[in-house]
Amino acid sequence: VVCPECHQTVLSKVDYSSGLLTYLFCGGLFFCGFVLGCCLIPFCVDRLKDAKHTCPTCKTALGVYKRL
Ligand SMILES: [Zn+2]
Repeated sequence: VVCPECHQTVLSKVDYSSGLLTYLFCGGLFFCGFVLGCCLIPFCVDRLKDAKHTCPTCKTALGVYKRL
């Protein structure tokens, strides 16, 4: 992508954070039968998390991809 701040073509850096779906998934597991430690699994699953793209050069947020 081309960064709007430094106008360089950069490969956006993706950070994952625990988003809403992560918590919903966690809650779903919790209510479907609490198995020890099971509700912590979603926090380790990047695919369920929000992806925040940032420019590696100037740290500008390029966008946040949310699952919901
Ligand atoms: Zn930049």
